[in-house]
Amino acid sequence: MTTTTPTTSEITGGRWLLEETAAGDIFTPERLSDEHRLMDRTAEEFITKEVMPNHDQLETKDWDLARRLVRRAGELGLMGTDVPEAYGGVELDKASSVVVGARIGQGGSFGSTYGAQTGLTILPLHCFGTEEQKAAYLEKLVSGEWVGAYCLSESGSGSDALGAKARAVRQDDGSYRLTGEKMWITNGGFADLFVVFAKVDGEQFTAFLVERTYPGVTTGKEEHKMGLHGSSTTPVILQDVPVPAENVLGEVGKGHKVAFNTLNYGRFKLAVMACGGAIAAIGESARYAAERHQFGQPIASFGAIRHKLGEMTVRAYAVESAIYRTTGLLDTALADHDAADPAPLRAVLEELAIECSILKVAGSEMLSYVLDENVQIHGGNGFVKDYPAERHYRDSRVNRIFEGTNEINRLLIPGTLIRRALKGGLPLIAAATQLQDEIMSPPSLSEPSDAPLGEQMRAIAAFKKAGVMVLGLAMQRYGEQLTEEQEVLSWAADILIYTFLAESAVLRALQASTAEAATAALQHDAAGTYVNDAAARIEAAARSALAAMDEGDTLRMNLAALRRLLKVTPVNTVAMRRRLATAVVDRAGYMLS
Ligand SMILES: Cc1cc2nc3c(=O)[nH]c(=O)nc-3n(C[C@H](O)[C@H](O)[C@H](O)COP(=O)(O)OP(=O)(O)OC[C@H]3O[C@@H](n4cnc5c(N)ncnc54)[C@H](O)[C@@H]3O)c2cc1C
Repeated sequence: MTTTTPTTSEITGGRWLLEETAAGDIFTPERLSDEHRLMDRTAEEFITKEVMPNHDQLETKDWDLARRLVRRAGELGLMGTDVPEAYGGVELDKASSVVVGARIGQGGSFGSTYGAQTGLTILPLHCFGTEEQKAAYLEKLVSGEWVGAYCLSESGSGSDALGAKARAVRQDDGSYRLTGEKMWITNGGFADLFVVFAKVDGEQFTAFLVERTYPGVTTGKEEHKMGLHGSSTTPVILQDVPVPAENVLGEVGKGHKVAFNTLNYGRFKLAVMACGGAIAAIGESARYAAERHQFGQPIASFGAIRHKLGEMTVRAYAVESAIYRTTGLLDTALADHDAADPAPLRAVLEELAIECSILKVAGSEMLSYVLDENVQIHGGNGFVKDYPAERHYRDSRVNRIFEGTNEINRLLIPGTLIRRALKGGLPLIAAATQLQDEIMSPPSLSEPSDAPLGEQMRAIAAFKKAGVMVLGLAMQRYGEQLTEEQEVLSWAADILIYTFLAESAVLRALQASTAEAATAALQHDAAGTYVNDAAARIEAAARSALAAMDEGDTLRMNLAALRRLLKVTPVNTVAMRRRLATAVVDRAGYMLS
């Protein structure tokens, strides 16, 4: 299956900040092929007919059932959508795994089981495994015969993953003995294969493939969690476990490459599942708001509720647009390569680290917002277990914690960008210098644009400049100490997140201009509302960052420059959100993809 993504010249993560992107250059859900839609239907049927009717039983920690569902997903080809056929996969593109992932995200706890299997076990094995390792394990995992788990975290090292204490002692025959305790391991209770990170001779951080049946492997009690009760989370304990030399995954001392590339894809997939979950919850809210009457009318008729339904749609649309844009970048980069060769995938995952972190933060926070409003729209019924809103709310909270907390991901976004700029890979410093000259002699204001979404495109150009300004000044002001200024870096991250999402939403809506008029109008409403609100959020973040860096005349000058840059005329978002809410209620669900 091929994606109809236009070829872009060169894919460099973060480049969108410094360059213009044409509307036709991004992949969007509207470009999905019939084959993608078929895959979507298969995943939807699996979730609605096989997973959700069993969800209460899964929550009793019936791991035999969880295994059967993993097996069934394997039979349907859902575990190996993007794995080469040679290893039992379906060998489709990343867009296929996105449509499947979004559906699985609607499957409650099972999403976590699936994510640990596909993103955290199959992916690192495919990317870093030897032919022998793939022959031994990949097909079993893709078919769902075996279940996998990923053991990076320890009680003393979560965010600081490289601070792991687990040890691997090299033996005379080249094999290893592993000792340590891993914490919060998804699928821990019933996995057959563990990807375990430990330090060889206490120093060289390395990934190993450890079978459950190896002597010395045990798992602890199930954690009592806030949510995801139908997914297993346990400690994994290794006591002098013998591991053959051929079970080193990747290279000795290069475990960080396995860990971080896996996490990049995991972050991307987390956003995909979050978006699928949000879309389903918007449907629940819309249907409830249409049925529930107060003061003699459906609550969907009240402006306050329409605002919520409209805003939930806007935020989901922006994240969805950014996901598909990134999917297009992945598929374009991989298009001309042999699917069995994992090198290009490893390279592109490293390349798109910034976008993966952006999506992780934006996706998980959008989901939190949507599910919180879903509870609110359900009123008292949202707080009791009779309706799924309560469970969604609890289940989703962990998305801001795992796959790198949102704090860590926020720091990674500007951190990675700046590191690339300093290495000469991104012309950020030149752009910042040019912007400083521009700010000193600002061009006179041009006439408002009457092109479709023309004002929004102008606003996005201004957002990018605000981002470059804050990053440039921060680099100048703090130099090598910038890593210590987490508050400023986090505000810079927010500017970059809003900018990437705003641009993705507008470019997608521009493509929709050629589609059916009503759909195009709704997409324009969603993109226009997002840009309008992003302007205020970006200004607030930039002002806070500038005020942290300077004071007096310098601060006043910088703030005046920022105001000139971000002169964005507000639009009537009440009308736009109302139209979106009406459409969501009329169609009983999210209607933009
Ligand atoms: C349900 C569940 C499933 C999980 N599944 C897995 C799994 O399958 N495999 C696995 O390996 N792990 C798994 N984890 C662990 C998860 O990845 C960690 O909990 C997460 O990485 C955070 O680590 P921590 O809990 O030690 O928090 P900490 O690292 O102690 O962080 C606590 C707080 O401090 C902040 N913080 C930490 N360091 C910094 C810093 N340098 N700068 C700024 N702020 C900082 C964090 O953002 C956070 O807000 C799972 C966790 C849960 C809850």
